[in-house]
Amino acid sequence: MATVTFDRATRTFPGSERAAVDALELEVADGEFLVVVGPSGCGKSTSLRMLAGLEPVTSGSIRIDGQDVTETRARDRDVAMVFQSYALYPNMTAGENMAFALRNTGVARAEITRRVAEAARILQLEDLLDRRPARMSGGQRQRVAMGRAIVRQPKVFCMDEPLSNLDAKLRVSTRGQIADLQERLGITTVYVTHDQTEAMTMGDRVCVLRDGLLQQVGTPTELYENPVNTFVAGFIGSPAINFLDGVSVHGGEALIAPTLRIRLRTKDITGPVTVGLRPEGFDIVSAGSRGAQDELEVTVQRLERLGSETYAFVTPIVSDGVTVPGGHLIVRLDKRQQVQVEQRLRLRVHPEEELVFD
Ligand code: ATP
Repeated sequence: MATVTFDRATRTFPGSERAAVDALELEVADGEFLVVVGPSGCGKSTSLRMLAGLEPVTSGSIRIDGQDVTETRARDRDVAMVFQSYALYPNMTAGENMAFALRNTGVARAEITRRVAEAARILQLEDLLDRRPARMSGGQRQRVAMGRAIVRQPKVFCMDEPLSNLDAKLRVSTRGQIADLQERLGITTVYVTHDQTEAMTMGDRVCVLRDGLLQQVGTPTELYENPVNTFVAGFIGSPAINFLDGVSVHGGEALIAPTLRIRLRTKDITGPVTVGLRPEGFDIVSAGSRGAQDELEVTVQRLERLGSETYAFVTPIVSDGVTVPGGHLIVRLDKRQQVQVEQRLRLRVHPEEELVFD
């Protein structure tokens, strides 16, 4: 077990003007499951590869258990990597693939056999130990790749999108299994994904990157409830948060339009603001009621019925002058609410549930 420290770790690829990872400062606690998330090209894999020793560090340093490993060869770092492609040897059986990771490491043969059997038991691979990857399903290959990392009993697991080759259903069940397994083994884990749902459901903490720069690191709840900027607010949460442009005035109110004012939790911001409202932050108020200042009149453009709930894509009526970056708002409705496309709705904004960004 070990802590991991990125100390202003930077990677600039030769010929590139901008750093792919720019002065990353991050501390991963002993036994923690940290997820690194962000859009394509933000520097997730490069960060992970620097930790694993597969990518040189241009400046700054990386420590494992307090020891500077910046110049240490990958194989001497005691880090086990699980790749998106699984990178299994096709000519070896599942058992051989797992055992291979321990050959030439000085681990005795009997101990290798014991560890492979133990990993196979944990991952329910006992019946597949003699099978080659070509004759396994994607989920089974994924488990062998995990097994290969487990048998090494490393200080740190590095996982780079290990679920992205699985179908949607298997991804959901496997993410739970990996999170449980990590908790049981207690091995410090850095896990990369572009999928915010995966990040939110698996991570003890989540680190959001954008253009090589750390935006925020915190628990899933902290990121959801207190994102530091509109990027994090927009990236975390599905469906995405709604943004409204407005002006904040003294006394904790945002004027969105002459007809719409939203009461703010944050009382100390004045001037132009972007107000973020989650899809669950609205109620339908009965048609015909007199419009209050925290109400918004909209037209339903599209409905997404998911069974347990429905999402309505709505546009504010033009005459209200409400500016919505992106054109529409997404509103979560209870499945019992009978709503049709093209219907007009009056929505009340839940007071003081907003996020406000200056
Ligand atoms: P994805 O989710 O698409 O895998 P990522 O967040 O993992 O993306 P990285 O692979 O870390 O992103 O890449 C970060 C940036 O570095 C990108 O702009 C990418 O184009 C650039 N990059 C990555 N590898 C190299 C390389 N070998 N040479 C030059 N530039 C690279």
